[in-house]
Amino acid sequence: MSSYSITSKLPATPPTIFSVMSVLAQKHHAINLGQGFPDYPMNEELINGVYAAMKNGHNQYAHMHGVSALREGISAKVHSLYNTAIDPDSSITITPGGTYAIYTALTSVLRPGDEVIVFEPCFDSYIPNIEVNGARAVTIALRHPGYRIDWEEVRKRITPATRMIMINSPNNPTGKILEKEDLVTLEEIISGTRILVLSDEVYEHIIFDGQPHESVLKYPGLLARSFAVFSFGKVYHCTGWKLGYCIAPEPLMKEFRKIHQFNCFTCNAPVQYALAGFLEYREEYLGLGSMLQKKRDYFQRLMLGTPFKPLPSSGSYFQLYDYSGISREREADFAVKLTEQAGVASIPLSSFYKDPVENQVLRFCFAKKESTLAEAVERIQRHRF
Ligand code: PMP
Repeated sequence: MSSYSITSKLPATPPTIFSVMSVLAQKHHAINLGQGFPDYPMNEELINGVYAAMKNGHNQYAHMHGVSALREGISAKVHSLYNTAIDPDSSITITPGGTYAIYTALTSVLRPGDEVIVFEPCFDSYIPNIEVNGARAVTIALRHPGYRIDWEEVRKRITPATRMIMINSPNNPTGKILEKEDLVTLEEIISGTRILVLSDEVYEHIIFDGQPHESVLKYPGLLARSFAVFSFGKVYHCTGWKLGYCIAPEPLMKEFRKIHQFNCFTCNAPVQYALAGFLEYREEYLGLGSMLQKKRDYFQRLMLGTPFKPLPSSGSYFQLYDYSGISREREADFAVKLTEQAGVASIPLSSFYKDPVENQVLRFCFAKKESTLAEAVERIQRHRF
């Protein structure tokens, strides 16, 4: 074979930490509390809905923007949740998952030299997605242990090249949520500028302790310049289905669809038909917060019997735990050791930064059966650190 070398467009981008830790977990028969996916079954009726859609002949290309019944259902849902009217024809596109929607949104507006403000720690696709478009990620560190956005710092970091600000609430990996005050401030900061917003809201329903989800869709000044991204995988316990959607005002969505039409063009049809029929069961998503709150509380109660110290989680699948009482090792080293020796996989928080910040903190996913969580904590308790 002849050797061939190319100059990488993403020279500093390693394989995603989620795959790395999942492979390590498998190799060591560890309980995987690293990658964010449920290990409990999804709703049978929704599975049957996909089968019925296939039997009913929905097996060919669906509309490029997504099945219209599904987009109409999403529009009705958004109206009932956030009292906002979204046109299903011009402003909603169904995508193969939230990650794809984020990439497509960035690609549809970013040009070389643009700057995008990103708050770290952040979901690991954001920065490579910015850089592959020739744009630059301007990172603002959220300080341990509160991980709150310092909006004064945001004002200072805005330059004439700032094209976008990315937010994510409930947040992966910190479990923090943005409050009304945060969105009002963001709205005020970008008003009168050319700055757009990408709001990653894939955990919109996984929010705890009776707190509301503050969507950009609720704030007219943000709605007018935002791509808002959602994922059905997180709502219906089917992350492997990889289906989500993007909501954006017409001028932004027009550009989004130019990229989408020549990338995947259209998404899995039977799954879209099944979801369209399932959206009316509001309790499926309205009950998600309390279901996962019970899991957060169960896991935390058990973890209090270990030397790990919980940081508050207000939403998402995740909770951060501080291990400074056990070890001063680097987070990546400690996470590997915990997987190999104790048999429990987690994700080092440092992997959510471009330039790793070390705080002795690991991220655990508690979207698991109680028996899985109990076994994981027993293994940690049995281990001699
Ligand atoms: N954003 C965040 C913050 C996530 O945690 C995830 C999934 N882990 C996604 C986006 C992607 O969702 P999907 O699986 O639908 O691509």
